[in-house]
Amino acid sequence: MRWSTWFGTGSRSDTYNPEAGHPGMHDPVVIIGGGIVGLSTAWHLSRSMGPGSVLVLEKEKDVGLHQTGHNSGVVHSGIYYRPGTLKARLCRTGGELLERFCEERSIPFERCGKVVVAVDPGEEERLPGLVERGRANGVTCRVIRREELVEREPHVRGRAAILVEDTGIVDFLEVSRRLAAELELSGNEVRRGARVRSIVRDGSGYRVGVGDGIVRARFVVNCGGLHADRIARLAGEHADVQLVPFRGQYFELTGRARGYCRHLVYPVPDPAYPFLGVHLTRHIDGRVDCGPNAVPAFAREGYRARNVNLRDVLEIVAGSGFRRMAMRNWRTGLGEIVRASTRSRFVSAVRRLVPDVEPEDLLAAPSGVRAQALWPDGTLADDFVVREVPGALHVVNAPSPAATAGLAIGSYLSDRVRTSLGLAGE
Ligand SMILES: Cc1cc2nc3c(=O)[nH]c(=O)nc-3n(C[C@H](O)[C@H](O)[C@H](O)COP(=O)(O)OP(=O)(O)OC[C@H]3O[C@@H](n4cnc5c(N)ncnc54)[C@H](O)[C@@H]3O)c2cc1C
Repeated sequence: MRWSTWFGTGSRSDTYNPEAGHPGMHDPVVIIGGGIVGLSTAWHLSRSMGPGSVLVLEKEKDVGLHQTGHNSGVVHSGIYYRPGTLKARLCRTGGELLERFCEERSIPFERCGKVVVAVDPGEEERLPGLVERGRANGVTCRVIRREELVEREPHVRGRAAILVEDTGIVDFLEVSRRLAAELELSGNEVRRGARVRSIVRDGSGYRVGVGDGIVRARFVVNCGGLHADRIARLAGEHADVQLVPFRGQYFELTGRARGYCRHLVYPVPDPAYPFLGVHLTRHIDGRVDCGPNAVPAFAREGYRARNVNLRDVLEIVAGSGFRRMAMRNWRTGLGEIVRASTRSRFVSAVRRLVPDVEPEDLLAAPSGVRAQALWPDGTLADDFVVREVPGALHVVNAPSPAATAGLAIGSYLSDRVRTSLGLAGE
């Protein structure tokens, strides 16, 4: 086995020996989580540090099975993000890196563009401000009038719209599998079915408990997605954010309705709830989804309404962030729950943008669960949040557009790891 640092118990002959010394420079950088953020970080590290330098630990039987494999597949342009934030920077760079990555490997990628549609005068007034922000982020976008909107999107109704040419679509699961395959080809390991259960500081590195064995790590990067706050706590860190799972429910357009949009069709975002708002998304395989509703999930991996995990629920309601958010936003939350449970409400939200859609055009589609980080005062953690402690990085908030930005986030984290290890110049 490549990993001289793996010590197992039971049937393994290489029984864990606590006298074997502290983790050191011959031990790998251990990445927890085989989603796009973890895999990209590992991929970048492997390119600069070589074979045997990186080990990815993924609890599932394959990579990318959670947020990375349950998302809308949109390569976001970065139009909405506050200039200067990590999101704004890494979304742009990430989109460009991703397009090149796909082109070089013949992974299907389409720059289909999107329209952000203003239906009422209040929304129309907000368009120029959004365009200004987009341009500050380097996004190619402009306001188009009703006539051009109708010409481009005959089934979409609106007073005006923003045309964002940079938006694209891709299959992030395929990208992640490719990253994993290249990592393995480079002599590094992606260990599937490897759930991390403990993380103990040892010298300048860590001992990471996986299944019934221990892995020695010279450095740990926590990219645990929906579980990242728990993993940080396992390592003895105080995670100042609380991750709350929100289930996004989708419907698929069927039959003739599939042809109702040529671009991606989005409403003007509500600045208070940027992740809400039913939109229509074309996928790279030709499917067209609309959604999501966003309702609190009763399990971190609760893809169905009936999935309840008592530990998760108790943890959610015990968090001051969640309680404060719920108190402030109960009206909006209730609206989302009603829309989630009433098909006609959902159809109305879709028809606000595309009036030709009929209830029978919609077929229930798989849901996704997003990790939404809350600060203790109940406000949403809007930007990516990475906490650095000696010997470890914890990515405690990587919401959308983290899939788009994945390759850029990976490069950013890999630089930070190499700087911490004193390898930045190598
Ligand atoms: C419904 C939905 C739609 C979205 N749409 C888009 C979009 O269109 N475009 C976009 O850019 N972004 C989108 N996003 C956001 C994007 O998918 C995520 O931000 C991104 O995938 C985060 O990647 P990740 O690697 O951090 O997390 P994940 O993909 O969740 O990966 C984390 C991994 O860690 C593993 N793990 C957790 N705990 C352990 C443990 N103890 N031991 C070992 N492994 C562990 C998990 O099994 C998982 O595989 C969407 C998200 C959702 C949910």
